[in-house]
Amino acid sequence: MEKVTEYFGSMVFDERIMKATLSEKVYKSLKRTIDRGTPLDISVANAVAAAMKDWAIEKGATHYTHWFQPMTGVTAEKHDSFITPAPDGRVIMEFSGKELVKGEPDASSFPSGGLRATFEARGYTAWDPTSYAFIKDGTLYIPTAFCSYTGEALDKKVPLLRSMEALSRQAIRVLKLFGNDTVRSVRCSVGPEQEYFLVDREMWKKRKDLVMTGRTLFGAKPPKGQEMEDHYFGSIKTRVAEYMADLDKELWKLGILAKTKHNEVAPAQHELAPIYKTTNIAADHNQLTMEVMKKVAEKHGLVCLLHEKPFEGVNGSGKHNNWSISTDTGINLLSPGETPYENAQFLLFLAAVIKAVDEYQDLLRLSVATAGNDHRLGANEAPPAVISIFLGDELTEILEAIENDTPYGGATKEKMKLGVDVLPQFSKDTTDRNRTSPFAFTGNKFEFRMLGSSNSISCANIHLNGAVAEVLEKFADELEKASDFESALHELIKRTIKEHKRIIFNGNGYDDKWIAEAEKRGLSNLKTTADCMPKICDKKNVEMLTRQGIFTEAEIQSRCEIMLENYVKSVNIEAATMIDMARKEIIPAVSKFASDTASAVAVKKSVCDSACRYETRLVSELTDLIDQMDEATTRLEAVVEELKKIEDVRSQSEFVRDEMLPSMDKLRAAADEAETKTASEYYPFPAYDELLFGV
Ligand code: ADP
Ligand code: MG
Repeated sequence: MEKVTEYFGSMVFDERIMKATLSEKVYKSLKRTIDRGTPLDISVANAVAAAMKDWAIEKGATHYTHWFQPMTGVTAEKHDSFITPAPDGRVIMEFSGKELVKGEPDASSFPSGGLRATFEARGYTAWDPTSYAFIKDGTLYIPTAFCSYTGEALDKKVPLLRSMEALSRQAIRVLKLFGNDTVRSVRCSVGPEQEYFLVDREMWKKRKDLVMTGRTLFGAKPPKGQEMEDHYFGSIKTRVAEYMADLDKELWKLGILAKTKHNEVAPAQHELAPIYKTTNIAADHNQLTMEVMKKVAEKHGLVCLLHEKPFEGVNGSGKHNNWSISTDTGINLLSPGETPYENAQFLLFLAAVIKAVDEYQDLLRLSVATAGNDHRLGANEAPPAVISIFLGDELTEILEAIENDTPYGGATKEKMKLGVDVLPQFSKDTTDRNRTSPFAFTGNKFEFRMLGSSNSISCANIHLNGAVAEVLEKFADELEKASDFESALHELIKRTIKEHKRIIFNGNGYDDKWIAEAEKRGLSNLKTTADCMPKICDKKNVEMLTRQGIFTEAEIQSRCEIMLENYVKSVNIEAATMIDMARKEIIPAVSKFASDTASAVAVKKSVCDSACRYETRLVSELTDLIDQMDEATTRLEAVVEELKKIEDVRSQSEFVRDEMLPSMDKLRAAADEAETKTASEYYPFPAYDELLFGV
């Protein structure tokens, strides 16, 4: 058997390969571009392209593609082969620097939210040399950013890179104030934990809802769900274990640091976590991971469901965005230090995150908003749509002591004057691990838990980085002017805690009492995509995002539009699928069962003198449910028609929230009840117990 250390990264054009295949001059020049963003000379690009092509061909590749992340949320690719005709009628394999650096996909069918006028349908893709090229399925993949010809971002990578730069810029200013002049850049890193479901492919095929929408739109509760809590961390079934082993191998070949795998809470639910990486690479890798998860599942006769809520009544799937910021010299700025001095710096960064999360609650909420994730946020297993920060008791007590000028600490009970020599040490580990908090401090990083399993992690990190950069900028502005740095620092941290402590909550986020308490504190509770998405256009958000150079105003408007459109379209497809399944499958099946049962009454009565109470009651109940389903379907059909008449996307999204989703719930309720009364052999597709326990 091949060794992991040997095949890890074997499909990646990484440092090792660059060093081996490029001349020293070209390698150094490319490194400068990767590390410092210096523009790339065309002669260097040509040399890199030639080396990449030779390496790729040796690995069996015939094509290359500019791989990008349009606003659809999934990745896009168009494959071109390396072939070029030779004079003798044969072909040679070519790939130029120009082809490496820039591509021009016909971009007119990607969502642009009005950014790209139809007369200028072209967009271009530009190589992102900070993310390694790789080979997948016989094609050389080149990670790229996607822009319009006028330079507006049409993807999620460009703003992510911009947000990382903004954060770095402001964090460096703050570090300078602490006397740190050697730091050249500050990076943010992310380790995204990815949840998913596996179901049997043959069963999946029989369910139009799963095939069309990724989630079940019908399905009565199975006799057993997750109440026994026997699946979480349970021993992994052979078929699943084989899938996971295969998945690890494919990911490792692509240089993805897949590290942890286990069963999750719901039956058929699992998790995969990689080791954290710089955010833009983590984002690329997470997109790739989701793709590979689906592909590998096919080979095993399985389907990997990445929808946030594939099954009603059991947990949905999320993605935990473990986020930290650190210097290029290797210091994690969210790690409490060894000395009081370092701790003062830590507390300032902590205060910045607290303020950023409080002031931009809406931006964080909307960064994870999709029709799918709306089903999860606020349901029992996921953080609520209310954002709060968990800090743990120890840190919270320290902040309270600073705020109130009261003593803190065990025996010595020192006053928390935040100078640099008095601040006591505190322990790194917050032992208390709160699983219900949407934004939890976990010792040296924050875990943002509201992301849906199918979300790109880019949006959440764009907004998070932007918000923190904005606060750090304000902090730096204030502290740079101060005559006495230490007192100014103390006052700033104290004031920040006072003003923003409402966002800190260490209790149970799933408790209804918390929702009421959060409302009293004035925290926002934006339940649906229709509620939160328009907030991206609020003045304070536009000001922050444009000032930090992350989006232009036009880009913000377009994103709002695209995300709302996406919400409306997703739900609309679900509604159409429900109508189809109800009319063509469920109602006919239940009706057939009812009439067969009714016929049985006639037969029975001809042989014995019975009232046939069971059959009679059943037929009457089924008939009633059939009528209810028919009425609910008719209503839903009308709603689908009404939606077509609404023109602007905001009104459409509100209509979807207020009319379409409730109508769908009504139809489902009737159908699910009918399912519990219908003999299995009549039911047209696999039920929940078969899907959840069928692998
Ligand atoms: P848990 O399920 O207990 O939260 P996991 O081990 O499943 O923990 O996931 C934790 C994730 O956090 C991993 O992806 C890990 O690499 C990542 N992580 C650890 N340290 C950091 C850090 N400093 N910055 C960002 N992510 C981190
Ligand atoms: Mg985990």
